[in-house]
Amino acid sequence: MNSSEEDIERSLSNLQKFIKKIDGIESFVAISEGFPIAYSGTSQEKAETISAMAVDLILTGDELLKDIQNRPLALREILVMLDENKAIDVIKAKNLLLAFQGKKEIVEEVSSISAKYISREGIYCPYCGFNLILEVHKCANCKKNIPFKSYICPYCGTFNRIKKCIKCKNIITNDMKKVKIEKSRESKLSALLEGLASSIVFGWLGTITLSPVLGLILGSATGILVGVLAYRYIKPEYIVES
Ligand SMILES: [Zn+2]
Ligand SMILES: [Zn+2]
Repeated sequence: MNSSEEDIERSLSNLQKFIKKIDGIESFVAISEGFPIAYSGTSQEKAETISAMAVDLILTGDELLKDIQNRPLALREILVMLDENKAIDVIKAKNLLLAFQGKKEIVEEVSSISAKYISREGIYCPYCGFNLILEVHKCANCKKNIPFKSYICPYCGTFNRIKKCIKCKNIITNDMKKVKIEKSRESKLSALLEGLASSIVFGWLGTITLSPVLGLILGSATGILVGVLAYRYIKPEYIVES
């Protein structure tokens, strides 16, 4: 086995790990010269059938495009619906064809990211430089596991722009920009006022029911507690650094 074959083998095994973590992908086949060289979620026999079909689809698509456009235009990707929810997506990546079967919402997203990965494209954390292209993000709304790179959740349409680097845990955007977390002046002031108000109320209550000394202690203690809690629960604002 030469080094480029080893390279492809390693890339495909990384890809298979990624696909396993994403919700909605049932099977995956990597095809070289018409034959499956790696597959998951399916049998050898089915992988061979899918390989033959993928090659046919791409060739037929190319022929159709030539007729329609009257010029040679290479087809890069083709999506076939199996029923209203399921699809097979076939995409070209370097000398390989990659076929993904699964929920229609997710196959196109995952196939394009996989093709980028095979072509050695990456997305790198602006803090630690870690390549996040094959990482997973849990959608903030529907909690499905989607690719880290996805901005709009393919399942529920939620914008997932702000994320945490899985390596260094810094907050970044899906297009790899640094994000500053800030608490606004107004909300800091209101936390201070809440603390002051509760120290006055509890201080006064303590003074009339217990004693002035206990009132002072109770007032300061509750004031600090309320102030600190109010500060902690201020919703942070995310500021994207340009
Ligand atoms: Zn990082
Ligand atoms: Zn979602």
